Amino acid sequence: MEQLLERILATVEKPSRYVGGEWNSISKKWDQAEVKMAFAFPDVYEVGMSHLGMQILYKVVNDRPDALMERVFAPWVDMEEKMRAAGLPLFSLESRRSLAEFDVVGFTLQYEMSFTNILNMLDMAGIPMRSSDRKGDNPLVIAGGPCGFNPEPLAPFIDAFVLGEGEEVINAVLDVYLAQKQQQCSRRDTLSALAGVEGIYVPVFYQFEYKQDGTVKEFKSDSLVPTVVKKRVVADVNDVPFPTRPIVPHTDVVHDRMMLEVMRGCTRGCRFCQAGTIYRPVREKDPENLLAQAEELVRSTGWDEISLTSLSSSDYSGISEVISGLVDRHSSERINVALPSLRADAFSVELAKEVQRVRRSSLTFAPEAGTQRLRDVINKGVTEENLMEAVTSAFKAGWSSVKLYFMIGLPSETESDLEGIVSLARRVLEAGRNISRSKGRLRVTVSASSFVPKSHTPFQWEPQDSLIELQEKQRFLKQRIKGKGLTFNWHEGQVSMLEADLARGNRDLAPVLERAWALGCRFDGWSECFDFSKWEKAFECFGIKPGDYALRRYSHEDVLPWDHLDAGVSKKYLALEHKRALDGVPTVDCRGGKCPGCGICPSLEINTQLVGGKSVEPVQDLL
Ligand code: SF4
Repeated sequence: MEQLLERILATVEKPSRYVGGEWNSISKKWDQAEVKMAFAFPDVYEVGMSHLGMQILYKVVNDRPDALMERVFAPWVDMEEKMRAAGLPLFSLESRRSLAEFDVVGFTLQYEMSFTNILNMLDMAGIPMRSSDRKGDNPLVIAGGPCGFNPEPLAPFIDAFVLGEGEEVINAVLDVYLAQKQQQCSRRDTLSALAGVEGIYVPVFYQFEYKQDGTVKEFKSDSLVPTVVKKRVVADVNDVPFPTRPIVPHTDVVHDRMMLEVMRGCTRGCRFCQAGTIYRPVREKDPENLLAQAEELVRSTGWDEISLTSLSSSDYSGISEVISGLVDRHSSERINVALPSLRADAFSVELAKEVQRVRRSSLTFAPEAGTQRLRDVINKGVTEENLMEAVTSAFKAGWSSVKLYFMIGLPSETESDLEGIVSLARRVLEAGRNISRSKGRLRVTVSASSFVPKSHTPFQWEPQDSLIELQEKQRFLKQRIKGKGLTFNWHEGQVSMLEADLARGNRDLAPVLERAWALGCRFDGWSECFDFSKWEKAFECFGIKPGDYALRRYSHEDVLPWDHLDAGVSKKYLALEHKRALDGVPTVDCRGGKCPGCGICPSLEINTQLVGGKSVEPVQDLL
């Protein structure tokens, strides 16, 4: 295999994606591990290696004396072609063993448009694609991550889904697997034992009946499994075994720096945001703990930048303390600190000023909508004044370029909201012209993604705009956001529509996925690979059309395809939030001390956890 691989690697783009052996990677003795698990990332190495969750699970599993974890990424199209021609199965980076030799293969579900890569990876490993075709000696195939909160289009291909935070569940999964293996239990018994672990959803034990229009009539679960599976979260994030010796890639990756996770969850309550629901409640790490972890990261990696990661790092209560601690301790070593997500306000720019002594070319803000009316609908607690103050301080502080993120197709959007995007972009440019010292380099970049309704959000019932509407809105903005200093970027509408289909579809989409894969769909999130005509053909084979699920308006009474999966925020609260959205009524952020009753704290029996031992008293029942 080694010689064959060497010959292939000499002919492919970026061979470093497939060689392994990086600094801090772990190669345990194969025969000494009783349970062998592969972490499978269904995208290229550069994307997968930037995923903090993988580094956490890699540590958790490899810390067990009885287990090992190795990594595998989706081979790019050139590598796939060469591997298939040479009859080489998909292999792990550490021991270069076929994926089929592992006991457990765990996929991470970060993006719906990587689903065809999952099928392709199973096929390249020679693992039967459908769970029902797998036999005793085939690996157990599990999956978890944000898309696991509506995994129905993948249900026939995955043996068990993990709902919630993987490090909380993975040891229980491996313990159950090991016990079943030692007792030589059948595959069915192993699945049954796994279904008894809180946070594990085993689709084979759930049956769905659909109505004529494809909506769910009812679902049933076998008597021995829970009817509704509840997500699992880590109660105290200070106890999370944090990877302070992360793998340092040989090659450039998307996030080529230390990642220091400052907190889990976000309580802002943006109504389109699935992450805001599924990672609740907020749990902040202690600043001293973070500074100690940073110290270890610096010693063990050699990276020169440390990124404070979370969904909204400038909301972290100890942010000023952590930033000054990091700057005091590490500036002499020329370690830079980065804040990947900034709130659109002057405070955040002050923080960015503090950490970036050399001004980078660009700062990014996400007002999401062009008018205050629509920002109230989506509960984006940002005003035009906040944004103008933020960009004014950024230009004063020496930044010459600002990126603004918006979403088009949001519920209730009208042409005035689109005009609002145009005028906001022009006001920001104007402010730059009045303030910035480097007028020649001044640039305002507007990016407009398309709204994708996601499960477990207040907008889960809302339809997406049709492709024609989205394209018309993109044209409207393109014609107006142009000229010196202004750039407009947008996302391909067809990709957003398929993303919405997969995000809110049901098991009827599984054969469509399989057909799309057979027709050659791979890396559908990559514009150079995406081929909408193949997807159209795949849908046509099963009498459905792309957009059938994306454009569907669900009613509050409908049984939703994900109603058997509980993210902790109650459906009652989501329905109330949906109504408040359409009435344009904002909801407070519970971080301020007042609980609007999302239900997650009582449901999971843990409270928000803020720096200094502070918390928020949750209301027990909303209505
Ligand atoms: S239950 Fe209340 S305090 Fe807890 S996350 Fe929800 S809104 Fe915040």
